[in-house]
Amino acid sequence: MDFKKIDKILETAPSFRRAQVKRFIFKNLIEDWEEATSLSKDLRALMSSKFSLNIEHQRSESKENNTTKELITLEDGFQIETVLMRHEDGRNTVCVSSQVGCALGCDFCATGKLGFFRNLTANEIVMQVLLFNRLLKKEGKQVTNVVYMGMGEPMLNYENVINSIHFMNNKDVFGLGARKFSISTAGVVEGIKKLIKEPMEINLAVSIHAPNDKLRTALMPINKKWNLKQLFTAIDEYIAKTNRRVMLEYTLIKNVNDSLIEAAQLKELARNKLCFINLITYNKTKFYAPPSSAVVKRFADYLEKHRVAFTFRQRFGHDIAAACGQLARKKK
Ligand code: SAH
Ligand code: SF4
Repeated sequence: MDFKKIDKILETAPSFRRAQVKRFIFKNLIEDWEEATSLSKDLRALMSSKFSLNIEHQRSESKENNTTKELITLEDGFQIETVLMRHEDGRNTVCVSSQVGCALGCDFCATGKLGFFRNLTANEIVMQVLLFNRLLKKEGKQVTNVVYMGMGEPMLNYENVINSIHFMNNKDVFGLGARKFSISTAGVVEGIKKLIKEPMEINLAVSIHAPNDKLRTALMPINKKWNLKQLFTAIDEYIAKTNRRVMLEYTLIKNVNDSLIEAAQLKELARNKLCFINLITYNKTKFYAPPSSAVVKRFADYLEKHRVAFTFRQRFGHDIAAACGQLARKKK
């Protein structure tokens, strides 16, 4: 789906016509040009022959809570996964993928184990949100938030990621405010620096997962390029320039990063900063396991006692392998 093509197809048409056609795609969320009944028959025929609205996808619905996962097949046959989480407070958050696979190879992550195949285009990112808007429309709802926390490292596909945000922010597309978008990075410092310069107020999340360099390098190879000190210098700069709160993601992994020693180190990292820790319990894989609930509670209690701001991430979509780090499709 190349949205730029629309202007080319309608090059000679008046501009209100182009706007009308785009409204059908992004507002009326039609899935077939035959639904665009206020367009002339000829125009519908032209659009059907030149611009397919079809998104090849396979849907799984979670029983345990309101999570939907879509496996999307891209035009070149690569497959990506994207997840919708319906929160109790009414937010409908889409977790989009930004790449097919990921080059950063974090030791605990299913996507990282795939390796890297290619970047997604901005259109392919937008398409993931479009697909869920089509679904939600049937329930009288819409996507309210977009988080770049699916497959891939968004900061290594920076331009397409930012372009997709600009596009979805447009009032003629989804009109989603800048603050409704969050980019999560494993610690690509040059990406954080670019984000600091963005005029749009996009939220930043950083995957920490290990509060000392030795452990972090073992789990996340990116730490060799940018260690915790360099990473937190960039985070400090982001906070100083934007005055926006940063989310530090910390996934608790059994016997790896779940002791009180790590809790104390994490507290030091987060100390006196405009940030909060998002605790996640690890979603089991072949390689690692989540800690017991008693150990999770001990860790959380420590943060609480030392007044470190934190939240627990609600677990979504376990039964359909849609939870963090479980997205791992690449090709048919
Ligand atoms: N590449 C970016 C965006 C992906 S976000 C990043 O790493 O931040 C996906 C989040 O889920 C990251 O915080 C990642 O570290 C975490 N994650 C990976 N595998 C996981 C697992 N099995 N259980 C819980 N979280 C996991
Ligand atoms: Fe890539 Fe993020 Fe997974 Fe690391 S955690 S391998 S950066 S997707």
